[in-house]
Amino acid sequence: MAFGLYLHVPFCRHRCDYCAFATWTDRLHLEERYLAACERQIRSEAPAHPPVTSVFVGGGTPTLVDPHRLVHVLGAVPLVPGAEVTIECNPDDLDADRAQIYADGGVTRISIGVQSMDPEVLVTLGREHDRANVRRAVEAARAAGLAINIDLVYGAAGETLGQWEATLEAAIALDPHHISAYALTVEAGTPLAADPARHPDDDIQADEYQLATQRLGAAGYDWYEISNWSKPGHECRHNHLYWSGGEYLAVGCAAHGHVGGRRYWNHRTPERYLAAIEEGRSPESGSEELDEDGRRVEHLQLAIRTRTGVPAADVPDGFVDQLEGLVERRGDRVVLTTEGRLLANEVAIRLE
Ligand code: SF4
Repeated sequence: MAFGLYLHVPFCRHRCDYCAFATWTDRLHLEERYLAACERQIRSEAPAHPPVTSVFVGGGTPTLVDPHRLVHVLGAVPLVPGAEVTIECNPDDLDADRAQIYADGGVTRISIGVQSMDPEVLVTLGREHDRANVRRAVEAARAAGLAINIDLVYGAAGETLGQWEATLEAAIALDPHHISAYALTVEAGTPLAADPARHPDDDIQADEYQLATQRLGAAGYDWYEISNWSKPGHECRHNHLYWSGGEYLAVGCAAHGHVGGRRYWNHRTPERYLAAIEEGRSPESGSEELDEDGRRVEHLQLAIRTRTGVPAADVPDGFVDQLEGLVERRGDRVVLTTEGRLLANEVAIRLE
């Protein structure tokens, strides 16, 4: 049985101006206490659940914390043999030593936040990493035997199709196992949200997505979810858990979990999370339980985003005819067309 664990590291060096994640640039002094609290939470909660088949350490910037401390925490997770263990990495931080410490500590996969290979676009995104470090990070991960994902973002203000194409080609040339390409979105409360002149243009983003589909497909990366492509055999198992309605524990502040049909989330700030754990209380701050119909719809809305889509028998009457061009029958399944992938949220709403 697949069972996951998400661990959140809420520290960043610098706040990217499009980012609304739960992360702080002035809390790194809490690192040691925070990781000790995560370990304590894992040791108290994980034994009541099935052994873990996939771990994802996200943030924030997990590579900001001491790698020995982080793998020590991961050592508390009861893993099945062959479990997938991914850490999100900033390319500036991933050198050969760190990659080897991760690999020796049971990490199997890293996800490198590259976003763009174009210096101008990186500035527009408010990112600071050095492009040359991307190659160093990939080589370090490869030498340590880690599977590699490269995360890209398209749609920054002023990004031309040519710049995006160059980023795709540069990412492909690094020969990672997996590439994710996300449309830049405007999140409420961010500096980007307050600056409409820099908001992405839907038509340009659509062209950029089509280009990603062509280039990545031609380079041997199979599309398997709206924003994800992989070499055969390298799909992210943890992501599949999310899209298939699977279960996973939430460790750390602001982490979300799904266990026993219940979705729940932990206290958002590191301080509240630490207070709860250190006082022996649950770090959970809220939850919701969907009824059977809500669960069924949610499951369809997540599954339609994937290559295998949803069973034709489960979609509403007239769904395929009304959404002609956006969805198509493939055997006994209904899947998104390439155009449909651009409008996946609108398609998903029609599954209610
Ligand atoms: S590095 Fe990632 S998590 Fe941190 S502020 Fe930038 S986008 Fe957000």
